[in-house]
Amino acid sequence: MAVETADFIVIGGGIAGASVAYELSAQGKVILLEMESAPGYHSTGRSAAVMSENYGPALWSRLVTASRSFLERPPEGFASVPLVMPRGALFLAKEGEEAQLSAQADELVRRGATIQQTSAEEALRFCPVIRSDAFVKALYEPDCMDIDTDALLTGYLKMLRSRSGQIITRARAERLVRSGGVWTVSTARGAFVAPVVVNAAGGWVQEVATLAGLSYRNVVPFRRTAVVFDPPAGSSIQTWPMTFDVAETFYFKPEAGRIMVSPVDMAPSEPCDAQADELEVAIAIDRIHTFTTMEVRTVKHKWGGLRTFAPDHEPVIGADPEQPSFIWLAGQGGNGVMGGVAAARLAASLAIGAGIPSDIASLGITRENVSPGRQCVVDATAAKPVVGSLESFG
Ligand SMILES: Cc1cc2nc3c(=O)[nH]c(=O)nc-3n(C[C@H](O)[C@H](O)[C@H](O)COP(=O)(O)OP(=O)(O)OC[C@H]3O[C@@H](n4cnc5c(N)ncnc54)[C@H](O)[C@@H]3O)c2cc1C
Repeated sequence: MAVETADFIVIGGGIAGASVAYELSAQGKVILLEMESAPGYHSTGRSAAVMSENYGPALWSRLVTASRSFLERPPEGFASVPLVMPRGALFLAKEGEEAQLSAQADELVRRGATIQQTSAEEALRFCPVIRSDAFVKALYEPDCMDIDTDALLTGYLKMLRSRSGQIITRARAERLVRSGGVWTVSTARGAFVAPVVVNAAGGWVQEVATLAGLSYRNVVPFRRTAVVFDPPAGSSIQTWPMTFDVAETFYFKPEAGRIMVSPVDMAPSEPCDAQADELEVAIAIDRIHTFTTMEVRTVKHKWGGLRTFAPDHEPVIGADPEQPSFIWLAGQGGNGVMGGVAAARLAASLAIGAGIPSDIASLGITRENVSPGRQCVVDATAAKPVVGSLESFG
């Protein structure tokens, strides 16, 4: 079987693998291995595709901040369309949830967001289909953006190829052996040899680490369901914000001329080709009927997707504590698209032993707080992740 050599092998062709492969291709030869027939088939192709610095775990939100300028002004030739577009976010509180909404408002202000607090009635000017009698208060935040995930992924892959990087699909890493200072990664399409491996396998990161003979790390996938339906005839949905209830039981948003809704489920899952859960589909439709004036006549599309978390929901980036040539880029949760640009820069920099890029370090990211060796990640008995405030976003 053919053997190819490189400076870096990246395992996984989602946004994490594509972006870190692009970053590393400035330093040497990169081979990107993807087990499916096309990159982006799993989580990356199934996201809600929004970006906000104002939600999510603290370190992820800083990586979103560090990603923003690239997304707003990508390098020359990266994409022929804008990567981000205005969307806005609207949070709704029912009676009894006002304190939760106020706490959320305080947290958003603390993170530097501009917000408007309104009555539920006034919130109809942002999103005319909410049942304003079901809610008492609302909070609008204009900075939330839509991301063109497909253009972002395609841009990274195109730039990677232009730097002589190789993308090999249908190439599942089946065996990883370290010997003589290099890794040999065996796939059905040949063996690939490099001194450094980056594990960007999304829901499969644990499986890949096990193949490499490394200990269990607490980075596990959870399934989330999404459903798409047609909006009411004649409505101009393009300006509607992403709309959440503060109790975190649903969100919906315009998506390519239709409405996407998720019941924000978070069910533990094996790494797999995740499917929409039928009960969650029914719950999503019920939320739309209960909290909006829209009617779901036909489900146009539905899917499941994996979101992979460390127990603290923060990034898992850097060298494995048992093997410095095995670099993790994992634990993206619901932030892997929006924060992926900076996460990849950070992973690539650590992979070449260059430390933390200064702009990322200045935001308070340290080797330790994202390390795969931190206690909650290495401790197999640590509590599994749970949904927390502002974290079901995406
Ligand atoms: C419903 C939903 C909504 C979301 N909304 C948002 C959002 O609004 N904003 C946001 O930023 N994020 C969002 N996310 C999260 C986001 O999609 C993920 O964080 C991100 O896509 C993770 O990218 P990844 O490259 O790590 O994983 P993936 O895209 O899953 O890529 C991993 C790849 O590794 C490959 N692989 C696995 N094992 C092997 C192997 N042994 N050999 C070779 N290849 C292998 C897989 O085939 C896969 O292609 C959402 C997720 C879901 C499910």
